[in-house]
Amino acid sequence: MKTIGLLGGMSWESTAEYYRTINRGIAEELGGLHSAQVVLYSVDFDSLEKLQRKGDWQGAAEILIDAALKIQAAGANFLLICTNTMHKLADQIEAAVQIPLLHIADATAETLIADGIKTVGLLGTAFTMEEDFYRGRLKRNFELDIVTPSKGDREIVHNVIYQELCAGKTSEASKTEYLRIIEELAKDGAEAIILGCTEIGMLVKQSDTHIKLYDTTAIHAKKAVEQAIA
Ligand code: GLU
Repeated sequence: MKTIGLLGGMSWESTAEYYRTINRGIAEELGGLHSAQVVLYSVDFDSLEKLQRKGDWQGAAEILIDAALKIQAAGANFLLICTNTMHKLADQIEAAVQIPLLHIADATAETLIADGIKTVGLLGTAFTMEEDFYRGRLKRNFELDIVTPSKGDREIVHNVIYQELCAGKTSEASKTEYLRIIEELAKDGAEAIILGCTEIGMLVKQSDTHIKLYDTTAIHAKKAVEQAIA
């Protein structure tokens, strides 16, 4: 079994979910008392969120590259960055380490394509919904058509992530808003929705809607399990 490197803490709420899902996945695959071999480095999210807001992505890259090198030195065979947003820095982090990066958008796109989805709604932080590093990659490399919420709804989705979910809070009001926005995306042609922020699964579950949801945390963790035992 290979050792999985997790670059986490963004936020720790979703990293805890990665850890649980990966261990459960290994136990299901290998049985008995098997559990995952994991190296986890968890950063202080407060400093990173401030750098994001200032637009100091170079500062954020330095912190994440330092963490990735520590994960590699501790013996990980491959690396997961446990957040969609920080994949804005994926190329820089990938170039700084020798171990392969399991990219969250690639893992998600492969799953969508296997299910025959062509047009998909995307929920995440404003960075993820608006910038090319994520939606451009889905379009260019996987020919997926991406539908995003209106400007006002993107703000709602973004604010709930940073003000509630990353602080471990969920509210009925936010859930209602998310479900309304998911319905809007379906009306705009989305055949399914990418939960493109690793905390959204805390708020919205598949049982809340008839529209198919693709939770990036669950998908990314599942691919890590497959890669660990391949
Ligand atoms: N976990 C979130 C994501 O998947 C947001 C936190 C961050 O800014 O990294 O995008």
